[in-house]
Amino acid sequence: MSLKDVLIARIQAEGPISVADYMAECLLHPQFGYYTTRDPLGVAGDFTTAPEISQMFGELIGLSLAQSWLDQGRPNPFTLAELGPGRGTLMADLLRATKGVPGFADAARIVLVEASPALKTRQKETLAGYEPHWITATSDLPDQPLFCLANEFFDALPIRQFLRDGTGWRERRIGLDESVLRFGLGVRQAQPALQHRLDDTQDGDLVELCTAAGAVMADLSARIAQHGGAALLVDYGDWRSLGDTLQALRAHERVDPLSMPGRADLTAHVDFEALVQGIPCRHSRLTPQGVFLERLGITARAQALAQKLDGTALDALIAAHRRLTHPEEMGNLFKVIGLFPEGAAPPPGLEP
Ligand code: SAH
Repeated sequence: MSLKDVLIARIQAEGPISVADYMAECLLHPQFGYYTTRDPLGVAGDFTTAPEISQMFGELIGLSLAQSWLDQGRPNPFTLAELGPGRGTLMADLLRATKGVPGFADAARIVLVEASPALKTRQKETLAGYEPHWITATSDLPDQPLFCLANEFFDALPIRQFLRDGTGWRERRIGLDESVLRFGLGVRQAQPALQHRLDDTQDGDLVELCTAAGAVMADLSARIAQHGGAALLVDYGDWRSLGDTLQALRAHERVDPLSMPGRADLTAHVDFEALVQGIPCRHSRLTPQGVFLERLGITARAQALAQKLDGTALDALIAAHRRLTHPEEMGNLFKVIGLFPEGAAPPPGLEP
């Protein structure tokens, strides 16, 4: 039995499924899901992420968030949350870097939002010595000031895809051709949620919709608007999405998204405009990751770390700095957006 068999049986029984249903099964199926069964990160895994590339990423993000906490009058207690913490590296780097901020660690209640039992075990190891609390949904975040991080979390949430057809839309679905998974299209329907996209698309254009992201954003922004706090959300994507961005990665190589369900990572670009639409708190400008990290002083931090290094360790540090910030590497593809309450400044590194 494999996830492919499970999906084939489901499609035979129910008919074609949406891209969102396919993604949800591939990533989080309790028995065969990609994240539920493994730690996919790092050189030996399928992909790597900014916190795994260098400690500088978590340190700088942590200091930006801690400065926001200082600026808002050091609320105590507050929730220090991370969505989809992977191996726990970003949170560990943040906690180490903010040790010198008086009162921050004592006031912080660490909450990790994680759906994968395998990665939760990994986070427990990395964060031994702290007392994080795990939840699986942002609706369970406490009602108190919220300082929150997410790196490459929203790109893992299931998206639906729609093809423009006149003034209606046909949803992209996954069905069967013999017993092979194949993309197809549903019938033409009106899509109220895509009304505004009739202005900037043409027949045949594909747009993506991430309903799950809207629910998460509502949970975060309600707490920040009501109790204060801030969020730093980092992901690949752009202000408004257009085109098919569904992508599968296996061993750092792109593969066909339908070829190995549950055994390759599946992501889609994040539509940041949709993310912040209608939220009750303020948001910063969307800022390229490279610009954000440079504003926070990544070059000075790299120089300080370089003092103690030579040989291959020094080369690795220089390569990591370049990889995180250079426009041809992650510097431009990845973007940062900040959330903050009315009357407060955005977290350092971002502009209102
Ligand atoms: N932030 C980490 C890991 C990114 S991978 C890093 O930068 O290295 C995506 C993370 O989100 C994983 O921890 C995965 O298990 C988690 N995740 C994916 N979908 C989720 C969901 N619906 N709810 C909670 N966590 C989820």
